[in-house]
Amino acid sequence: MKTPSFLITIITIIFSQSLYSQQIAHRNSVIEKATQEISSANIESYIKDLVAIKTRHNLSSKSNPQYGIGAACKYIQNKLENLTQNGINKPEVILYNYKAGGAGSRLGREVMLTNIVAEFKGNSNDNRVILLLAHYDSRSFDNNDSTIFAPGANDNGSGVSALLEISRVLSRVSTPVNIKVAFLSGEEHGLLGAANLASIAKTQGWNVIAVINNDMIGNSRSSETELASNLKVRVFSENIPSFETETMKRDRVFNSAENDSPSRQLARYIKEIGERYVDNLEVKLIYRNDRFGRGGDHTPFSKEGISAVRICEYFENYDRTHQRVEVVNGKQLGDLPDGVDIEYVRKNCALNMATILNLSLSPDRPLNALMDVGGLSSSTRISWSDPSIGKKPSFYYILIRETDQPLWWKKIAVRGNEVVIPYSKDNYVFGIQSVSEDGCESLPVMIYGKR
Ligand SMILES: [Zn+2]
Repeated sequence: MKTPSFLITIITIIFSQSLYSQQIAHRNSVIEKATQEISSANIESYIKDLVAIKTRHNLSSKSNPQYGIGAACKYIQNKLENLTQNGINKPEVILYNYKAGGAGSRLGREVMLTNIVAEFKGNSNDNRVILLLAHYDSRSFDNNDSTIFAPGANDNGSGVSALLEISRVLSRVSTPVNIKVAFLSGEEHGLLGAANLASIAKTQGWNVIAVINNDMIGNSRSSETELASNLKVRVFSENIPSFETETMKRDRVFNSAENDSPSRQLARYIKEIGERYVDNLEVKLIYRNDRFGRGGDHTPFSKEGISAVRICEYFENYDRTHQRVEVVNGKQLGDLPDGVDIEYVRKNCALNMATILNLSLSPDRPLNALMDVGGLSSSTRISWSDPSIGKKPSFYYILIRETDQPLWWKKIAVRGNEVVIPYSKDNYVFGIQSVSEDGCESLPVMIYGKR
């Protein structure tokens, strides 16, 4: 038998301030600096520039330099290609063109659309990829009208501006893993750009560990009920994975893992890391893949079996989303810049920044994490292997929560590859993370029982 692992310390990480009394927030200086570099003024100017293009409808002009989806594509491409000042991590900007539309589709005619991806290469041989998404197309009330003013300041100028600002800051930071920042077309006509990129990721064998879709992250006031707050944001994640083999299904049922999909682990991670670095922002986990009747660009990725979530404002304003720009009974309709809370976009942008940097500085997830469920015991024996790529972890966190709790309650730091902890396998859910020397943790893996 292996020597039991050395239990080095117990850190109580408290997630819910209403239930517990204390919280430890150790901030890594590189991550903290990067989140503080996010500029509200830049975000505001990107949104104004995008709105000035008048429409980014998928069937709008591709040749006019000032108007239409072609101008928007060029604008984003130029911003990314100009990231040269202090450019220690200049991205490679790749345009992925794809054919969309035609008979029987939501797009009235066939058209060539473009996804723009800024690829920030990692400074090591660690091939993991973190993928950020925001769609840059826009629409008005009639989704077939390609010439009407469709400013899309919030949907999705907010997400695009956040990703442009993240790209600017990323160009000054060097990280071990690859970060791809993707600006997608075709969303408003059926997630076409996302489906194309997801299939490229699959066929080219990208080792994508997380997809974070930002779609509408700037409105902080609800229509009708007039509730307002920029203090909380939603992260949507699927419950039961939409991609599941028979073996995965049997494992899920055996382990009662319905609240522990890989996408849910990513959502919890965004909450933990985001709240560690971004002040005055609470991340609300929504136990749904998306809102009723409406989809998002993360979904084609989850369907391919990739962990993928959507970040979205907590309150939505239906007077401003997909509406004609006009004043009706004294009320302004349409997706104009005055409906975007820039400070809210800044915080949501920082939430992305902190998450991807913490993840990129972490070792890869442990492998073969299993617990012994064969015998009758009040303690639980857990074992795992080191990750096979990237830097070796400095230590691991065993994560614990009761079966009826939504968030991890306690983290136990351990060394080695095996531990016995005095918590019953029947009453708790366990997870595990790899941790770097300076405390950056990987995404958690739920620890399954050996069948
Ligand atoms: Zn949208």
